Amino acid sequence: MLVFILSCTGSEPAETVADADMPSLRPDLPNVVLVSMDTLRADRLSAAGYHRDTTPFLDERAAAGMMFRRAYSQAPSTLITHTSMFTSLLPQVHQVRGHNRKLEESRLTLAEHLAAQGYATYMSFSSLRFMPEIGINQGFETVNPFWDRPKNKRGVNVTDAFHAYAAEASERPVFAFLHYFEVHAPYNPPEPYLTRYHAPRPDLLDPRHSIEYLDANRLTPIPVETLNYLEALYDGGVAYLDAELRRLHAGTAIANGRPTIWIFTADHGEEFKEQGYLGHSTWMHEELLRVPLVVTGPGIVTGQTDAIAQSVDLFPTLLDLLQLPHPEGLQGRSLASPLTGSGAPLDQPWPGVSDVVPFYENTKNWAVAGTIDGQRFKLVQQEGRELALHRVDVDPGRDVMTKHQPQAAALHAIAEQIKISRKKLRESGARDANIDELDMLRSMGYLDEIEAAESHE
Ligand SMILES: [Zn+2]
Repeated sequence: MLVFILSCTGSEPAETVADADMPSLRPDLPNVVLVSMDTLRADRLSAAGYHRDTTPFLDERAAAGMMFRRAYSQAPSTLITHTSMFTSLLPQVHQVRGHNRKLEESRLTLAEHLAAQGYATYMSFSSLRFMPEIGINQGFETVNPFWDRPKNKRGVNVTDAFHAYAAEASERPVFAFLHYFEVHAPYNPPEPYLTRYHAPRPDLLDPRHSIEYLDANRLTPIPVETLNYLEALYDGGVAYLDAELRRLHAGTAIANGRPTIWIFTADHGEEFKEQGYLGHSTWMHEELLRVPLVVTGPGIVTGQTDAIAQSVDLFPTLLDLLQLPHPEGLQGRSLASPLTGSGAPLDQPWPGVSDVVPFYENTKNWAVAGTIDGQRFKLVQQEGRELALHRVDVDPGRDVMTKHQPQAAALHAIAEQIKISRKKLRESGARDANIDELDMLRSMGYLDEIEAAESHE
């Protein structure tokens, strides 16, 4: 049977470690709330220039803190990116993807590190991908899962449970990870969001079955009016999420009285045929990899930045903001400089190529992006296709390999150095997760909707 650490009501007080056991707990340590907005692409925020009023709350948060205009997920997939977020390890190193991989217990997670520094750690999630069998909940003392609820109930549950937890918090600082699934397909938010941007069109598709529509049309052309309808439904989900996050933020009163750093980001985006694909996973398109990143809290300056940010950066960034020690082996770089306005340049470890971001789904689908002579390029390997080079900021859909071979060679050399394209790394000791529980849940009929919704993560 599945054994979760805590039942789903969220009303129980957190398991706590005696504060006396904690190392010199600093009274100035703030709380940290990391909010993951599954499948929310960066350009859907009104603050990013979107033409619809999708995100009034996130816009307010962006105005109250720092918004990264060029933030990237490490992969177009839920589990891969979150594992990179939690470990500050690149996907080809942590090796966690799909149902059949498990994070090695020897890996250090952000939650484990913060717990060791005295933090109370809390996780609540809305997707099967975070089941304890996968192992990425290492370090979370309290885990509130809501993935088995109807999709439009999960976010409400995540919010309510965290409000209850926060109200009971001890004097220890809190690190909370809250995962929301409202934007993910099926695109079927409740009213008024369902019809907020488009009148119902049952002749085109049934929103309840939009996931099946995505599955059937991943790479095939679809009518423009259906595409417009899908985007309007997706945007309705974005607006629904935004309203839920406003409720989360407004109702959060962490009883320890400490100030709180809030981080709003996503694990990947969603594509609506901009480059021929529908939905997410596998492909290395900008629509799938660019995500929102908004940070507010004590010491965070306000504004927007073009500094490149990526999922692996969150771990070292938070440690710098909290003035806590860095463990060995983190692969991200700290973004504390743009967040605090210190003006210090960010590390540029690759001579001639700056702002390197590696993306990875598997050895057949990976990419490396980097800025060379002021131009941003992305070297892309997709299964069944030739290696291609794209100008990210100009025409991300066009292959410019023949015109820019030195740039391609430079990025390929980086891919080799970080061992993206070496198959032997695939067998570095990652183990299969126990999937008996999945079979059990499937037999109980739980998984139909969930697996349909997540089959392309
Ligand atoms: Zn996801």
